Amino acid sequence: KLFNEVQELKGNIRVYCRIRPFLPGQNEKSTTIDYIGENGELLISNPYKQGKDGHRMFKFNKVFCPAASQVEVFSDIQPLIRSVLDGYNVCIFAYGQTGSGKTYTMSGPGTSKEDWGVNYRALNDLFDISGSRRNTFLYEVGVQMVEIYNEQVRDLLSNDVSQKRLGIWSTSQPNGLVVPDASLHLVQSTSDVLDLMEIGQANRAVGSTALNERSSRSHSILTVHVRGMDLKNGSTSRGCLHLIDLAGSERVERSEATGDRLKEAQHINKSLSALGDVIFALAQKSTHVPYRNSKLTQVLQSSLGGQAKTLMFVQINPDVESYSETISTLKFAERVS
Ligand code: ADP
Ligand code: MG
Repeated sequence: KLFNEVQELKGNIRVYCRIRPFLPGQNEKSTTIDYIGENGELLISNPYKQGKDGHRMFKFNKVFCPAASQVEVFSDIQPLIRSVLDGYNVCIFAYGQTGSGKTYTMSGPGTSKEDWGVNYRALNDLFDISGSRRNTFLYEVGVQMVEIYNEQVRDLLSNDVSQKRLGIWSTSQPNGLVVPDASLHLVQSTSDVLDLMEIGQANRAVGSTALNERSSRSHSILTVHVRGMDLKNGSTSRGCLHLIDLAGSERVERSEATGDRLKEAQHINKSLSALGDVIFALAQKSTHVPYRNSKLTQVLQSSLGGQAKTLMFVQINPDVESYSETISTLKFAERVS
């Protein structure tokens, strides 16, 4: 009861924890997950401590156990996604260390239908619903896909794959395009979207030797713009869905990183803490929300706060070796939830 009241006070911010399963070949006994409660409780055990000091309890809006399927995860967030058709702005983030399942949750491990992550399922669902409302509403759907790497914004769907830096509008513009120079592609079906994603993925790899390396150090943002018109009275609405696969949250020891790697780590650190600060300020209903501290929060400014809805997937790798990263991830999440 109390928890529900707290949630209401904090408004439109939800935090879901998703634990990825052990991969083939990993030892399932070396887990930090002690207990997953029905109501979002998560008990983590510390491999280095015995007894009652060896446990820590966290609480989220929901915890998805390792066996949770893509369908299960999506069905839980479907209402949130559909609200975009009614003119809401929604941000869905995946946060966690590299290898914790962020890309699995957002994009999915492959392009077959059962593998689909939130991105494809969301667009597919938006097309389904808009199709079923065809007689009463007219919807137009456009997508943009950008990457933020070292505090520079890059269009992933441009034919011109040059590394042109894109500007951001400092205030939210009436048409809701915060990165106005990133190409906007009108889409009519899920297959249009799959084609665009392929281009986006390919462009993401440009300028990096290994795709995984690069993609774990940049934020990728898929933005879906929806414009609706009520055919009965001509009234229009505009909603926007941002689907964000964040850079890996792992902390890099200063002593271990030098040069480019250190610079990358500092940029990631700065933008993830800026994101945490913004969500924390919103949760506290603070009068000052520090959007300007990173490109990430600037790009998302018009979709964070106000009537906008935010969902964060906090991704956990259950392996004992990830214990300290897991705790730091959960502490980040605890602060914003
Ligand atoms: P991240 O994007 O956070 O670096 P990935 O999404 O690439 O992590 O996941 C790391 C590995 O774990 C991949 O091989 C991925 O397929 C696998 N994986 C992640 N989450 C799940 C899951 N829920 N079920 C099965 N395999 C998963
Ligand atoms: Mg990834």
